[in-house]
Amino acid sequence: MENLRFRAIAETFRHKKIEYQMPTKKPSEYFGEMTFNHSAMKEYLTDESFGKVMSAIEKGTKIEREAANQVASSMKAWAIAKGATHYTHWFHPLTGSTAEKHDSFITPEAGGKAIENFRGNELIQQEPDASSFPHGGIRNTFEARGYTAWDPTSPAFILGNTLCIPTIFVSYTGEALDYKTPVLKSSFALDIAAKAVCKLFNGDINRVFATLGWEQEYFLVDRALFMARPDLVLTGRTLFGHASAKDQQLSDHYFGTIPERVKEFMKEFETEGHKLGIPVKTRHNEVAPNQFECAPVYEEVNIAVDHNQLIMYLMENAARNHNFEILFHEKPFANINGSGKHNNWSLATDKGHNLFAPGKNPKENLRFITFLVNVLMGVNEYQDLIRASISSASNDLRLGGHEAPPAIISVFIGTQLTNLLDKIEASNDKSGLNEELKAGLNINVPNIPEILLDNTDRNRTSPFAFTGNKFEFRAVGSSANCAKPMLVLNTILAKQLSTFKQEYDALIEQGVEFEDAVYQIIKKYIIASKRIRFEGNNYSEEWAIEAEKRGLVNIKTTPGTLKTWVNERIIKLFEDTNVLTKRELEARMMIRYEKFTKKVQIESRVLGDMATNHIIPIAIRYQNTLIENVRGLKEILDLQTYGKVSKNELEIITAISHHISEIKRGVDKMTEQRKQANSLEDEEAKAIAYDEQVRVSAEQIRKHIDKLELMVDDELWPLPKYRELLFVR
Ligand code: ADP
Ligand code: MG
Repeated sequence: MENLRFRAIAETFRHKKIEYQMPTKKPSEYFGEMTFNHSAMKEYLTDESFGKVMSAIEKGTKIEREAANQVASSMKAWAIAKGATHYTHWFHPLTGSTAEKHDSFITPEAGGKAIENFRGNELIQQEPDASSFPHGGIRNTFEARGYTAWDPTSPAFILGNTLCIPTIFVSYTGEALDYKTPVLKSSFALDIAAKAVCKLFNGDINRVFATLGWEQEYFLVDRALFMARPDLVLTGRTLFGHASAKDQQLSDHYFGTIPERVKEFMKEFETEGHKLGIPVKTRHNEVAPNQFECAPVYEEVNIAVDHNQLIMYLMENAARNHNFEILFHEKPFANINGSGKHNNWSLATDKGHNLFAPGKNPKENLRFITFLVNVLMGVNEYQDLIRASISSASNDLRLGGHEAPPAIISVFIGTQLTNLLDKIEASNDKSGLNEELKAGLNINVPNIPEILLDNTDRNRTSPFAFTGNKFEFRAVGSSANCAKPMLVLNTILAKQLSTFKQEYDALIEQGVEFEDAVYQIIKKYIIASKRIRFEGNNYSEEWAIEAEKRGLVNIKTTPGTLKTWVNERIIKLFEDTNVLTKRELEARMMIRYEKFTKKVQIESRVLGDMATNHIIPIAIRYQNTLIENVRGLKEILDLQTYGKVSKNELEIITAISHHISEIKRGVDKMTEQRKQANSLEDEEAKAIAYDEQVRVSAEQIRKHIDKLELMVDDELWPLPKYRELLFVR
């Protein structure tokens, strides 16, 4: 068959059913077997070294060289026993994916022999030739060195035959060039600040850490069909395609039966994930056809971020093993739901408390309200930064559609908590406030756990929703590295909690007693952060108007959000908490401008090529057969009949000409816009030009292509259509 698309479909059905060989053991028996976890460390390390690693993990102490040598040699023994031949430092450069460079354990010896070797300094640090990683101007070419350094808090693991060691990545001058470094620093800042506040309520807390449970949405597309679409191959999304007659309108995919081939794929990546200690738990069909979700049990944030990156890798591999391609893009198909990555975020203590969960006694409830209100205060103060933390060229296409939260950040807390906060706010003299709340504490507040357990009032439209014992940050994009939004939330809360503590200390100094001091500040915060709370429909137009009145930012696309990172207030936030320096923030901003521009540039070029090389020639070919036909009719029919019969065809011929010339005109215009934009020196101006001109032209071109798709003979149409991409499995 000549048609590329039909060939792809035929290919799809030539596939044999592929089954994944499940291990014969129970998951609990192989869970974590490919990680250098506590039990592996216990087995391979001396008690002393084990103690040192555990102290590094739990208390942040440094591991000296000698101990590192011992850890390296044990790690090597463990990895070789598991079949590893190579090792790599595994890190998260600012490209957004992960990087690795494999080295063999082999070291040559005299006499033509070799031994497997892995020393402490190879574990602790490496110097990858990393001049091609994004650095936003931090590294000049003459100081192009970068270092990776071992993160002992995230367990080493084996992928294939390679021992992977999670590391941070910094420049010669010590600046962070990755996502992990600021996550670790923000966790440190949060621990200090949250612990200090926590100790007001429980004296015995030694550590506070953020927890993250991500929910990863994705699409699966048959691999043969995927390969027949250059836009999917090169940009991860369809740049055009008419809506399928049936897509998600019946909501018959959501939580439906998982198709057999998809289930085999899920079994594979989940099992491989379990071997790597990733606690994957939930799987289900999502709203859109061929859209699915996976979610693990939550973990400490740094590990959860690593595990999300790792699972995305495992999913890509497993998909290919089952002749699928996985799409993590936020909006692979127009007019149907895109994909997000809900980040469920909470705070835990070393004693097992969840600080965002209502407690079992009045004091714990007061602690809960304190943390809750501090989150509201922090989100209110830094809503612009939270918005900036989720922006990307691909997430721009999803936010604000009627499927995902808008670009306005607000917090949903539910009716019960709203009533509680309103009550606190309404008590207008201090003694009255205290009396009511003290009384309330004995009667109402301890009931909160019960009430909240029954609380089914959920707001799926909110970008940042309290869901009983955690906040769910829903605006994060499906392809994003969770590190960015997580480090932002941690940093904001760290700063906010230390402000709270300062205010509290000042009141105590004035002789105010504990509960009164806490209540005074809470009440002030409730009032000050009121505008950030929104319980209504975030998708509605009324909300955009209301939000503007409240002074909340509503920046719809990425270029407009990026300056936020270098705003004085934000630099101060990151410097006060010691998470990122001004130079690092500036560099990151530059990288984001460039990344945005390049992504849109690639999309625009691919669209131009496809329009010119695929669509226009086919439309002309079809138009020619119509013209042939009309000419033939003229030969065989009398003039009057011909006039009647040819009318419809002539209309189609004219319409095709119209769309072809609009496409041609659009592509020329878009190419000119790219040229103009490329000549701009300023990265911000360039990104804005790509956003406001190139992207807009691309959308116009798309409309005409989609119209042609409806007209041209199905057999001639060269590219798989939405109905095939979404329903063939
Ligand atoms: P949903 O109804 O939104 O799908 P789920 O009950 O499936 O919610 O939970 C979603 C995610 O929330 C899971 O990944 C889960 O691990 C995570 N989660 C639950 N409790 C916490 C917590 N304390 N901290 C962080 N994440 C949590
Ligand atoms: Mg959820």
